[in-house]
Amino acid sequence: MKIIVVGAGAFGGWVALMLQRKGHQVQLLDGHGPANARASSGDESRVIRALYKDEIYTRMTLQSMQLWEENEILFGEKYFYRTGVFNFIGRDESRWLAAKSHLNKWHVGYEELDNAALISRFPMLSTKGIQYSVLEEGGGYLRARAGCEAVVAQFVLEGGQYLQKNVKALQQLPTTLSEIELEDGSNLEADAFVFAAGPWLSQILPQVLEGVIRPSKQDLFYFGLPSHFTFKQHIPVWCDFATLEEDVMYYGIPAIDQATAGFGFKVGKDVAGPDFDPEHGERIIDLKNLENARHFMEQRFPFMKRAPLVQARVCQYENTLDAHLIIDTIPGLENVWVAGGGSGHGYKLGAAVGHYLANRIEGSLAEEPLFLLNRLSKPLDGDQRR
Ligand SMILES: Cc1cc2nc3c(=O)[nH]c(=O)nc-3n(C[C@H](O)[C@H](O)[C@H](O)COP(=O)(O)OP(=O)(O)OC[C@H]3O[C@@H](n4cnc5c(N)ncnc54)[C@H](O)[C@@H]3O)c2cc1C
Repeated sequence: MKIIVVGAGAFGGWVALMLQRKGHQVQLLDGHGPANARASSGDESRVIRALYKDEIYTRMTLQSMQLWEENEILFGEKYFYRTGVFNFIGRDESRWLAAKSHLNKWHVGYEELDNAALISRFPMLSTKGIQYSVLEEGGGYLRARAGCEAVVAQFVLEGGQYLQKNVKALQQLPTTLSEIELEDGSNLEADAFVFAAGPWLSQILPQVLEGVIRPSKQDLFYFGLPSHFTFKQHIPVWCDFATLEEDVMYYGIPAIDQATAGFGFKVGKDVAGPDFDPEHGERIIDLKNLENARHFMEQRFPFMKRAPLVQARVCQYENTLDAHLIIDTIPGLENVWVAGGGSGHGYKLGAAVGHYLANRIEGSLAEEPLFLLNRLSKPLDGDQRR
């Protein structure tokens, strides 16, 4: 089958590679390049952890971990670092209690630590607000931007065609789709189409996705580590659910690999920011967010007091209403697929999304109801946080 994949981020890149491996003739298109500075996958690193209250993401994360490790051998470079992920649990332990049974079921190694044990492992930390911690031993981080580039390079090596071209939006949905129009005025024909354009999806398919995927502005900060710090003496990845701000999770990735070690101690706040246009939005951080991040860092990591900001990034989440992915066909168009809605947690799932969608297109896997578009027309229930 001839298949066009639009978008070479964490989702589209893996989808294209998996389809190519199944013997299809695949063209992968990206208007700005794989993991470009506007893309959601465009930052240096992303957390990968199996601790989820929804079992499906635990399973997909484990599959992604395996796919990264298998493919790193082909890529000839390391992109997945199993540093361990510390989860700091505060008064609300419900997310951890929901996740625990999945970790047990899927044999994910973890350790529960009281604060004394935590400090013995992670001495440079203040335990204020932390009741206890969970160390997910096999979690860590992925080199995000470089990882997308490696997936696309491998796709091309295995016979796929990559084109740096922008696809025109489908303002009006046709009754059948056999070709798409590019911004340079040319057309490309295919039997099936996958739209994996991340935060741009609501602009490309407005009739189906406007208001369904809402991009939000997310500021990220890299603080300079003291000069005596070496990447060998590393701090693991951490997710702080014990912050004093209600419903706020901060997370951090103190990169230890040679490629990103000098980038600084990365910290982000996992709360959806204001609406943002991925194409035209100016990437300027909000100074109030910087002040809050710095305040948080100084409280949790006293050794970072007065650490200078060395870099900052503006990225965007591509939020769905319930923070679950969308992997489905467009109503009435059985050969047109959407893969997106990563909602701030999609990078780690990208490889598993590629596997799932390649098999869905071939009809060899059952559909996952959680990823269908029509779920979003029903009232939501429960806690929408992941
Ligand atoms: C600050 C921040 C922190 C995050 N932290 C984590 C984390 O720790 N762990 C985790 O798992 N996830 C995390 N995420 C989420 C994750 O990064 C995203 O869900 C994921 O990268 C989305 O990938 P994507 O392929 O859907 O989109 P993108 O990476 O945005 O890719 C879409 C691509 O489509 C292209 N495109 C758009 N329009 C067109 C067009 N018309 N024609 C051709 N090409 C087009 C774009 O150029 C782009 O390259 C985070 C996100 C942000 C913003």
